[in-house]
Amino acid sequence: MNAKRPAKKAAKKAAPQAPQAPQSPEKAPAASKYPSKRLIVPSALQGVENGKLPSKLLRPVKCGGQMYGPAAEAFNAMYDQATISGIKLRNIGDYRSYEAQLGLFKQRYATEDGGRKPQVTRTWNGKTWYLKPGMSPSSTPGKSNHGLGLAIDLDVTTQKVLDWLCKNAPTYGFYLQTSDTKSPEFEAWHWQYVG
Ligand SMILES: [Zn+2]
Repeated sequence: MNAKRPAKKAAKKAAPQAPQAPQSPEKAPAASKYPSKRLIVPSALQGVENGKLPSKLLRPVKCGGQMYGPAAEAFNAMYDQATISGIKLRNIGDYRSYEAQLGLFKQRYATEDGGRKPQVTRTWNGKTWYLKPGMSPSSTPGKSNHGLGLAIDLDVTTQKVLDWLCKNAPTYGFYLQTSDTKSPEFEAWHWQYVG
């Protein structure tokens, strides 16, 4: 048989090339397993003061607590699917009133630098506030997505739960704030409803 031998032809064609630079893991755009998407505040919430949602805009979520109506509806559908998959979603923070956010902020931040590295700062009431060592970041009062009922903190201390959320939460419109695990804003437990 006189079959063509493309392999040989290809080999002939392949001229010596400069060796390719080894792929740097830092340069390669890391396909993060953590889904993130920018949150745009729904128009229905745009005139509403953060942390002061009227109760008619809030709905209960199945793991206890409340969120903005459409977010609660999406969450409850996700909760049901998780339950079917043998995953128990546990709420560790849902809608937060302004007062609750203020209390949390003062617990976590101080006006003096406690030496945290890398330092995380917020500006509030005309002052710089420094995140205390060992504390998780939180938004300044009046700025949190919890105050709009758009965020829920879930217990992700079990890897199985976190993996399930990373894979399935976007189907229900829930995302993390950032996919970058090195960012101080990375919070694997904070899921916000982007839709
Ligand atoms: Zn949160």
